[in-house]
Amino acid sequence: MYDLPPQVLRAMEMLNAAGHRAYLVGGAVRELLRGRGALTDFDLTTSARPEETERVFSGFRLVETGLKHGTVTVLMDGLPLEITTFRVDGTYSDGRHPDGVAFTPSLERDLERRDFTINAMAYHPGEGLIDLHGGREDLAAGLVRCVGDPARRFQEDGLRMLRCMRFAAVLDFRVEEDTGAALLGSRALLDGIARERVREELTRLLCGPAAGRVLEAYAPVAAQVLPELVPAFGFDQRNPWHDKDVWHHTLAAVDAAPATPVLRWAALLHDLGKPACFTLDEKGVGHFYGHGEESARLAGEILSRLRFDTDTRQKITALVALHDRPIVPERRPIRRLLARLGPEGTAQLIALHRADNAAQSPLAAGRQEELDRARAVLDQLLAEGACFQKKDLAVNGRDMLELGLRGPEIGRALDRCLEAVLAEQLPNERGVLMKLAGESMG
Ligand code: ATP
Ligand code: MG
Repeated sequence: MYDLPPQVLRAMEMLNAAGHRAYLVGGAVRELLRGRGALTDFDLTTSARPEETERVFSGFRLVETGLKHGTVTVLMDGLPLEITTFRVDGTYSDGRHPDGVAFTPSLERDLERRDFTINAMAYHPGEGLIDLHGGREDLAAGLVRCVGDPARRFQEDGLRMLRCMRFAAVLDFRVEEDTGAALLGSRALLDGIARERVREELTRLLCGPAAGRVLEAYAPVAAQVLPELVPAFGFDQRNPWHDKDVWHHTLAAVDAAPATPVLRWAALLHDLGKPACFTLDEKGVGHFYGHGEESARLAGEILSRLRFDTDTRQKITALVALHDRPIVPERRPIRRLLARLGPEGTAQLIALHRADNAAQSPLAAGRQEELDRARAVLDQLLAEGACFQKKDLAVNGRDMLELGLRGPEIGRALDRCLEAVLAEQLPNERGVLMKLAGESMG
């Protein structure tokens, strides 16, 4: 009845033929019922023990990485299928990992251990949908609801709190009332969760279409992992360009930013330095001099704490640091941005300015057009193949040697050439740049 890849159907048939039960479970069933997008992840649950599963699929490539949890990954015609034995989780003494997993012959028990009703359905082409927790109904109503008692389920595994917010943000769902109350009440449990897992869930949450709404509704939960958000909550900007407090401005900027991890994180962090930089002038207007740098400092701390890789951290902090410097929509300033951030970074900075501006008061609306022009100048420079870094110069180190320059003189001469090209004082042509470099020998 559902359109499943032949590999998935074949794997279920093979398990059934060997006398085992087998069902599609988890996210794949949820997405099938929603009828959205292309499915990529296929999880099967089966009564077969891992060694039995391995026997059934002995002719295929197997990956054993999840064996401890009863998972065998079978690579079928290029499609990885995660096949996990029906299991119940043992007790959770560390609030994250079950102390042991026990296999069970019962599909019901396996579905019971799953986090949310929308993730706790199973499907078999012959048996149809097995929905013991009202998952289909919650899916139709757009609700994320824990299976069983929410406080207990969060106590077992605190990461489920962020998963809950992530699913709400990504699916644009509400959190069911009791689950939401437990989310707020259990948030201290997040202190014990591995930072990498927090990072992954927050990133997915931020990239969801309802990120702003979910972060607003569960701000105290977000603040449990990002305490740097707290000063922004309710912070009145006292400035005509702003009709929202720092937190609500931030949320609007997140929603307005393109849904990529770098830009959504940059939007979330871009104004966190504002409260610390606040001053009031004699007219009673609020200012935030230097807040870009302060926000970038906070962003660096947060991203390091969450174990972001260095490259991503630097990209995000550079955008945050530059978010409050005007972008002049002219060739020279855009070339300088290219020199500093590269093509992708420059496009991202323009996109961040756009999102930031869209989240300001209607008074600031005129800046969108200026940002359109900045984007057009960027596209023009890139289409021309304009030079913005030393390696694109029409002269190189060998040319400098030829001119008789040596050692550090070479780098300095090339710097001068790049500077002249960025400033559009000279074209990027070998003859003129050789002349300039030759003069610098004087
Ligand atoms: P996506 O792949 O989009 O993240 P998913 O629902 O497939 O969504 P996974 O993390 O791949 O999520 O997990 C697969 C299934 O395993 C879930 O649907 C859920 O049934 C179960 N599950 C995953 N993590 C947990 C958890 N922390 N607690 C309980 N059940 C979980
Ligand atoms: Mg999945």
